[in-house]
Amino acid sequence: MMGSDHTHRRWSNLRKVLERLGPFCRPDFEPSSETLQFLLENCKILVIGAGGLGCELLKDLALMGFGNIHVIDMDTIELSNLNRQFLFRRKDIGCSKAEVAARFVNSRVPGCNVIPHCCKIQEKDEEFYRQFHMVVCGLDSIVARRWINGMLLSLLVYENGELDRFSVIPMIDGGTEGFKGNVRVILPGVTACIECTLDLYPPQVTYPLCTIATTPRLPEHCIEYVKIIQWPKENPFDCPIDGDDPQHINWIYEKSNERAAQFNIQGLTYRLVQGVVKNIIPAVASTNAIIAATCATEVFKLASSCSASLNNYMVLNDLDGIYTYNYEAERKEDCVACSQIPKDIEINNPKFKLKDLIELLCERPDLQMKNPGLTACIDGKNKTLYMQSVPSIEEKTRENLTKTLVDLGLVNGSEINVADITSPNAIVLKLRLAYPDTDMS
Ligand SMILES: [Zn+2]
Repeated sequence: MMGSDHTHRRWSNLRKVLERLGPFCRPDFEPSSETLQFLLENCKILVIGAGGLGCELLKDLALMGFGNIHVIDMDTIELSNLNRQFLFRRKDIGCSKAEVAARFVNSRVPGCNVIPHCCKIQEKDEEFYRQFHMVVCGLDSIVARRWINGMLLSLLVYENGELDRFSVIPMIDGGTEGFKGNVRVILPGVTACIECTLDLYPPQVTYPLCTIATTPRLPEHCIEYVKIIQWPKENPFDCPIDGDDPQHINWIYEKSNERAAQFNIQGLTYRLVQGVVKNIIPAVASTNAIIAATCATEVFKLASSCSASLNNYMVLNDLDGIYTYNYEAERKEDCVACSQIPKDIEINNPKFKLKDLIELLCERPDLQMKNPGLTACIDGKNKTLYMQSVPSIEEKTRENLTKTLVDLGLVNGSEINVADITSPNAIVLKLRLAYPDTDMS
């Protein structure tokens, strides 16, 4: 209860910050006891991910007075999580991360109400996301980050081209990779979004197929061989590889061990198999702790206006001592996600085929799409050009892949709608066809 002696003492440290002015306060900050009440009772925060960063985030936010937290995570707890995901115990193995984390925080921090959602972020709709004041991400997936970024952008309301500030739900994004980490504060529609800076994410490490197939030198080459060639051929479990299924990892481990022995390659471990298959780098608890604490501080600053926010990108390296640096990431004028202008795709080869276009969408550092489905308005009719995700449509549109853009009826200025798992909404691309030889025809 607010005002009681206990509450008074319990939150005395927060109250020193929230009920007094200081040199670092934002100009619009008014010291008040109501801010604490807002944090405890009204401010609604969504934490995405209940893993290494998520556990830290939930603990930090609960102890900083946030009493109204939702957490979403589709994963279940594994033995290897327990060294750093400290809200989980051995008895929790196999249970939902979101549920166990919520129960732990609720029982440990009186008055805090964490509500778990054990599902994919893609299963929730706009209505769900609209209810939050802020979204904090502790994710290890770039695709998921891009998707939530797109979702928050789709919630923006524009009136006569002016952004309605009340429709902005800030996104605080934490990320770690071994001893490196970053925190960014994103005000969707106002500051640089995930897609604006997509080229910062390095393309995934890939090995040339010929090396993998004929001259493996590293344990990684053997694992990739089993993953790319042997698995599809032998199809041991009648399904695609699931990096979280120990049976799958075991199978890959055994097969790649055989291959490593054959080529006299040392150093293949179960962990490495897991790492290569899931594309992960070992997690470091201290990096997670620093990044989550920074995120929680940013949430607190935004919720209370007690201090200026990070502007807007911080990087951390704690491999050798601690190094941090922050800078302002800039918006991209033609960002596919947050600008209102369709992105131009320039093509100057008349023989350019649809499959070349799809390859381009996947490979361009500023697009990095995964499995794009394309539709366009041709001769006044909406036409599906290609869609891999729906088998029946894939079959019907497959022949388009080898047709040139011209053959498909696409012209200079044609707009193509692209649907991809990296975004909840289709993205519009504008074709700029400049064929030097055919200009006069
Ligand atoms: Zn953007």
